[in-house]
Amino acid sequence: MSQIEDFQCRSSGDEHNISLEQMFERLNGSAEGLSSEEANKRGDLCGRNVFEETRKDSLLIRYLKQYKNFFSLLLLFGSILSFIAEWLDPGQGNIFIAIALLGVVILNGTFTFIQEYQAERIMASFKNLIPPKARVMRDGKITEILATDIVVGDVIYLEEGDKIPADGRLIEENSLKVDNSPITGEAEPQLRSLECTHPNILECRNMVFSGTLVQTGNGKAIIFGIGSDTQIGKLAALTEQTISVDTPIRRELNDFIKIISAIAIFLGVSFFIVGFLIQDTFLANLIFAIGIIVANVPEGLLPTVTLALSLASKRMAKRNALIKQLESVETLGSTTVICTDKTGTLTQNKMAIHSVYTGSGHLDVENKATPSDVLLRVATVCNNSRLTEEAPGYKGDPTEGSLLVYSSGFTDIEKLKEDYPRMQEYPFDSRKQRMQVISKTPSGELEAYLKGAPEVILDMCSHVLVEGKEEKLDEKEKQLLEKEHLEMAKRGERVLAFAYRKAESAKEYQDGFIFLGFAGAVDPPRPEAKEAIIKCHMAGIKVVMITGDHPVTARSIAATVGLTDDHKEPVLITGAELEELSTDELTQKLKAPSIVFARTSPVQKLKIVQAFQAAGEIVTMTGDGVNDAPAMKNADMGVAMGSGTDVAKEAADMVLLDDNFATIVNAIEEGRTVFDNIKKFIAYILTSNIPEILPFIAFVLLALPLPMNVQLILAIDLGTDILPALSLAVEKGEGDIMKRPPRKRDEKLLTPQVLLTSYGVKGPIEAAAGFACYFAVMFDGGWTWGQQLPFSDPLYMQAITAFFAAVIICQIANVFTSRTRRQSVLTKGFFSNRMVLLGIASELLILSFIIFNPFVNMIFNTAAISMKYILIAVPFALLLLGIDELRKYAIRKDSAFAIRFFKW
Ligand code: ADP
Ligand code: MG
Repeated sequence: MSQIEDFQCRSSGDEHNISLEQMFERLNGSAEGLSSEEANKRGDLCGRNVFEETRKDSLLIRYLKQYKNFFSLLLLFGSILSFIAEWLDPGQGNIFIAIALLGVVILNGTFTFIQEYQAERIMASFKNLIPPKARVMRDGKITEILATDIVVGDVIYLEEGDKIPADGRLIEENSLKVDNSPITGEAEPQLRSLECTHPNILECRNMVFSGTLVQTGNGKAIIFGIGSDTQIGKLAALTEQTISVDTPIRRELNDFIKIISAIAIFLGVSFFIVGFLIQDTFLANLIFAIGIIVANVPEGLLPTVTLALSLASKRMAKRNALIKQLESVETLGSTTVICTDKTGTLTQNKMAIHSVYTGSGHLDVENKATPSDVLLRVATVCNNSRLTEEAPGYKGDPTEGSLLVYSSGFTDIEKLKEDYPRMQEYPFDSRKQRMQVISKTPSGELEAYLKGAPEVILDMCSHVLVEGKEEKLDEKEKQLLEKEHLEMAKRGERVLAFAYRKAESAKEYQDGFIFLGFAGAVDPPRPEAKEAIIKCHMAGIKVVMITGDHPVTARSIAATVGLTDDHKEPVLITGAELEELSTDELTQKLKAPSIVFARTSPVQKLKIVQAFQAAGEIVTMTGDGVNDAPAMKNADMGVAMGSGTDVAKEAADMVLLDDNFATIVNAIEEGRTVFDNIKKFIAYILTSNIPEILPFIAFVLLALPLPMNVQLILAIDLGTDILPALSLAVEKGEGDIMKRPPRKRDEKLLTPQVLLTSYGVKGPIEAAAGFACYFAVMFDGGWTWGQQLPFSDPLYMQAITAFFAAVIICQIANVFTSRTRRQSVLTKGFFSNRMVLLGIASELLILSFIIFNPFVNMIFNTAAISMKYILIAVPFALLLLGIDELRKYAIRKDSAFAIRFFKW
C-alpha cells in the first residue's frame, strides 16, 4: 500500500482526544514533518488550504442597495411624479422627463455599483500582495511556505504574532497563548498545553485553530485539518468584517448631502408654492419643482468620490502602501500627527555591532579584538536568530542577528549551541527589556545567560568580570559602567548588556548575576527619512518618534533624521515618566513641536494615541508587534509594517510593504489630493445650478418665456457635466499640497466660501451668458418684452437652445479653472489631465446633438441655431476664467478679503 492511502484527508473531530502516537499514525506523519514530495502528493490528493468566504448578500441585493440612498430616492420620486403628470395630461413632454430621471437613477446606481465593486476587487488584490506565510518542517528543515500550500500531516512552527494557518494538534509549546476570538468570540487570550483538557474540541487546550492568532509564546503543531475542513471553514457564513467606523470623509459627505438636499427641497417647494400662487397650474408647477430639485442634486457625487479614492489607493499601492478600506485614503490625508517607531521605520533595521565594552575596558571591534568566551557564549546561546548566506547575514530579530554575526567572527556558533543546550528560555519582552536562557554546560552544570537593556541588567548584577576574575560590583564601578553606556548611546547605538551566573534549576533568576559587558549596535537611518520629515514639517504634520531604546540613543537618532530641526531640542518622555504623568500634564507636553518617547513599551502606545486624540489630533500610528495592535486599532489610521506580525497586519488600516517612513508621507499626499479633488468637483458641479435656477425665477417673476426647460437641466446635470466632473477626480495634487497645514478637523467639503465662489461669482456669469444668448435670439426674431410664446414656437425653441449652449461653453471654462484650488491653473499643463479634455469633448458632442439632431431636438424641444449666437458666450467664458484666476492670485497674495470670502 502506498503511503498516500495511509492517512486521512479529512479530520474526524476527535483529534483532541486521542494520543499523539495515534495522531501520528492516523496522519502517517511524525514530529519531523513531511518530505516535500510527500507534501506535494498530499496536496494533489486533498486539495489546497483555502476555503471560500461566503458573502452575506448576493450581487443582486448589493446592486439594489445602491438605490437606497437619498439622491436616488429623490430622483425616483421625481420620475414617478412625471409619469403621473404624463398620464394626467399627455403630450407635454413629461414622459421624456420621467424616462430621463429613471435613466439617471439607473445609470448612477449602476455606475456607483461598478465603482464599488471594482474598489472591492482592488482591495482584494492588495490582500493577495501580502499572502499569509507559514513555517513548516519539510525534508527535515524549517521552510517558509505559502499558508495555502499546507497539507495534512505538516508540522508547523508558531511564534508570537502569527496567524495560525490550519487546524493542528500541539506537539510542543512554550507559554503559548492564543486569541481564539475569530472562532469562539472570547477576547481573552487562551493558554495552551499538550494535554486534552476538555471534551469539547473548541475548549481543549492541545488544539490550535486556523484563523486564530498567537498572542505570546511559541509552539509546534501537527496539522490535521485544512481549508474548509477547519473549524473556521465550517462556520457557515463567515460574517464579513466590515468595521463601520465613520471615517472623516464619510461624515463630510453625509453633511454635504444633507445641506445640499435641504437647499434643493427648500427651493423646489418654494417654487412650487410661488408658481402655484401666480398661475394656478398644478401639474406644470410640479414638474418645475422637480426640475429645481434635480438641478440642485449633485448626481455624480458618490461615484466620483469612489473613483477618486480607488485611483488614489492604486497609486499608493504602486508606492508600497496597501490600504484595506477605501476611505482610509482620505483619513490619511487629514493626519495631523504621525507616531512612528524608530527601529525599522526611521532606521533600516540593519544592525551591526559597532562597539563593545567589558569589565576589562574597551574592545577594538574594528581590529577584531577577541572578547571573553563567556561573553560570546551569552551572546550566542541567549539568542534566537539564525545565520544565513544572504544579506544581511542573519534571519530573525536584527538586534540578535547582529550579535550572532559578531560572535561568528570568533567562534563556531553551531558547536557552541550544541555544547551548551538550552534547558529553558524566558523570551525577550519589550516591557521587561531582557531575555534569559538556562543552559547546561558540557560538565553538566546549569548556567543562566542574561541579555537586555543596560540599566535593567546592571540592576540584576552583583559582580563584574574583570580580566577573567569576578569582582564585587560597587557603586563606583556601576557609575563608571553607566557612563560608558551613555557614551555609546550618544553615538546613536542601541546598547545591550550581558551577564551570567551559576544556576541550580531552570527557574528565571532575578539577581546575583556577573556583569560581562556592553555591545552597541548601529542601525543606520533610512536615507529618505530626513527628507520625509522635512516634508511633514512643511505640511504642518507633527512627527513623534516612539522607541524602546534608551533616551540618549533616541535623542541621537532623532537628531540624525532631522527631528530636532531649528536646533529645537525635542521633548523627551520616557516610559516611566509616561506612567507618572496625569492626562492633563501629558496633553500639555504633547503640544511641543518635537516629541520623542524613549524606553517605551508598545502597550504604552495606546495611552499616547488617546492623549493626542483627546487634544483633537488625527493620529497615524505605526506598529509591527502583537502589543502594538490595540494602539493601531484606536488610532485614526493604523499602519503595519510589511515585515511585521500577522496580528499587526490584521489590526492595521494600511500595510507598508517597504516598512519605510517616507512611504507614509507619500500616502498622506495622495490622501490630501483626494480631499482637494472632491472639493474641486463640488465647486464645479454647483456652479451650473445658478444658470439652471435663474430661468425659473425669471419665468415666475418677469413672466419671460421659460429660458430653460427641465429636459435641458437634466441634459446638463446628467449629461454634459458628468465626465468633466469625473475628470477632476484624477487631477494630480497642486504644487502646494504638502506646503500647507493639514485640513482642520471641522473643515467642511461645503463651505460658505465654496458656495460664494460657485453661486455668487461663477454661476451668475454663466447665467448672464445664457440670458445674453437667449435675448439675442429672441430680439433678432422680433420678440418684444412681455410677449408670451408657446413652447412649440420655433423662435422660442431656438432661444432656449442658445441659453443652453451658452451654459455649456461657460462650463468648459469652469472645468478648466476648477483643476486648481489656489494655484494658477496655468501651472498645470494643458494636456496633463487627458480626462478633462475627454470631458470637454463629451460636452461639445452632446451640445451639437442637442442643437442639430432633429430627433434629439424633439426630446429637448430645441432647434438649430446660428453659430454667431453661441459665440456670444465666449467672452463670458473667458471672464469666468479670468475672475477665478484673480481669486486664486489674491489668495496667494494673502488678500484678507479674498481669504475671508473666497478661500476654499
Ligand atoms: P524598539 O521598540 O525601539 O524596537 P525594543 O523594545 O525592541 O525597542 O527594545 C528596547 C531595549 O531592549 C533595547 O534598547 C535593548 O537594550 C533591549 N533589547 C532589544 N532587543 C533585545 C533582545 N532581543 N534581547 C534582549 N534585549 C533586547
Ligand atoms: Mg524591537
